[in-house]
Amino acid sequence: MASVEDILLKFALKNAHDYGKAQPTAVVGKMLAEMPEAKGKMKEVMQKANEIVTKVNAMKKPELEAALKHYSFEEKKKEERTVKLPNAEQGAVVTRFPPEPSGYPHIGHAKAAWLDYEAARAYGGRMLLRFDDTNPEKESQEYVDAIKEGLAWLGIKWDAETYTSDSMPVLYNYAEQLIDSGDAYICTCPQDEMRQKRGLGEGCECRDRKHSESTHMWRQMVEGNGKHEQGVLRFHGEMDAANTVMRDPVLFRIIEKRHYRQGLQYRLWPLYDFEAPIMDSLEGVTHAMRTKEYELRDELYYSILDVLGLRKPMLIEFSRLAIKNAPISKRLITPLIAEGKVQGWDDPRLPTLAALRRRGILPEAIKKFVLSFGMGKAESEPSMEALLVENKRLLDPTAMRYYFVALPVKLEVKGAPAREAKLKRHPADEKAGFRTMNARGTFFIAGADAANLKQGETFRLKGLYNVKLEGKAAGGLTGTYAGEEPLPEKKLQWVNDKALKAIVLVPRDLLRESGEYDEKSLLVEQGLVEPDGVQIKPGEVVQFERYGFCKLDDKASLQFIFTNP
Ligand code: ATP
Ligand code: MG
Repeated sequence: MASVEDILLKFALKNAHDYGKAQPTAVVGKMLAEMPEAKGKMKEVMQKANEIVTKVNAMKKPELEAALKHYSFEEKKKEERTVKLPNAEQGAVVTRFPPEPSGYPHIGHAKAAWLDYEAARAYGGRMLLRFDDTNPEKESQEYVDAIKEGLAWLGIKWDAETYTSDSMPVLYNYAEQLIDSGDAYICTCPQDEMRQKRGLGEGCECRDRKHSESTHMWRQMVEGNGKHEQGVLRFHGEMDAANTVMRDPVLFRIIEKRHYRQGLQYRLWPLYDFEAPIMDSLEGVTHAMRTKEYELRDELYYSILDVLGLRKPMLIEFSRLAIKNAPISKRLITPLIAEGKVQGWDDPRLPTLAALRRRGILPEAIKKFVLSFGMGKAESEPSMEALLVENKRLLDPTAMRYYFVALPVKLEVKGAPAREAKLKRHPADEKAGFRTMNARGTFFIAGADAANLKQGETFRLKGLYNVKLEGKAAGGLTGTYAGEEPLPEKKLQWVNDKALKAIVLVPRDLLRESGEYDEKSLLVEQGLVEPDGVQIKPGEVVQFERYGFCKLDDKASLQFIFTNP
């Protein structure tokens, strides 16, 4: 990334070369077009421009020309800045993606991570990956690995990787500091009582507990020597605050469970509201991005940093990605897996990255799709189609073509010459060559096509010849050879009797409009692929003509997953 000075110098040299003398305002204008975020510090920019222009105007012509050679001015396509940040300084931006390793990443996480990554890149800054792993009940190494794998697959490169649970001693220190300053206290009220009082805007007796007593109780809870109470640490906020988040939120609670990374070292675990601002601040994050539903929590985020005297990152909120009839949340996906309604995190109906990948959705399509919403807060609920359209654009130029007939119906054609059909592997790519298929009178066509044929109708077996339909019976169709010309409107894909049995899993919307699970969401379609289908490699996406793009999921059973129409 070029610096402000560098860009000013480049345009000053050019301006001086073209007009004899450089003009500071002209130079600054050009510079801002290339680096709009510099508008945030105009005074500094103008001052630098004046200095640089003076220097350049003093140069002799050969010197000027020599310096100019270092720069190129051809109308280079300006890299589109998808993400603009307020108060961003070139080279000094730090963002972070902070997933909780409590499930596999989904396309919503892809949106957040891409925004974090693009924001950092746009300003020549850094992006951190931080696992917010302070709930031993929900987290595991499997999920950490899945998140890293998902991000890497998307093409996101993080500059550092940290784990909030590694900072527990630091977080404990800050908690004790809060207790000391009277900004937090131990509360032992039962949960419903706490909730009820919070609703009423009333404090409880624990609120008046002496700092020294809270400190003592806190230490016992940390040690877990059996003498501790089942309390929580609460922030001393305002019990009648209009923003209910500020009504003495819980900061720490006891969870006695083995943590996947820290083992049994800790029993008091911080909540998101406590650890997020502290970690962001300590890790040098300048722009902390999160989804809009956190907006009410901004006040708490800043209050905690205020009372601890820590540097405040800038919070930026963007809209949460939602897709029609898809569960874009671990909270919704986890029970579907637990109840066996889907077959795991990579079930092709899920919006997880593992599922989308397995299904043949390309990472570039996901990037394009999620970034198309930008940093805005506007809510929208696109359907899967929008993503599929993007994906198709990428697949179409390269996917090899094959004939596949779903729910095959036999077709016997009489009087036809034996022939070898020569079919293009790709309609637009000559170099891809041809595949061949023998035609000796016995064919299979798709069940849907067969159902639509009328007796006496003439149609073409694509790439072969015309057939006139004579009879329809339970055992199949019969027809007669009807020559080569003219080309009838109806052209059908076909396979011969050497075709291979295949199945296609067709994922459809997992949820109904009502949000309920749709048990008919996975269609399993039987069919036949032309013999040349043995060439398809595991993981390859091909186009079954007039059927759709499919990815070979399991070579042994010739199982495909329907990728895209
Ligand atoms: P989930 O409901 O899936 O558990 P979460 O927000 O609890 O979502 P985290 O692991 O805490 O999941 O999320 C990490 C980051 O990803 C957060 O900054 C969060 O705002 C963002 N994120 C999660 N879901 C979405 C979504 N649907 N759209 C955009 N960003 C999301
Ligand atoms: Mg969460």
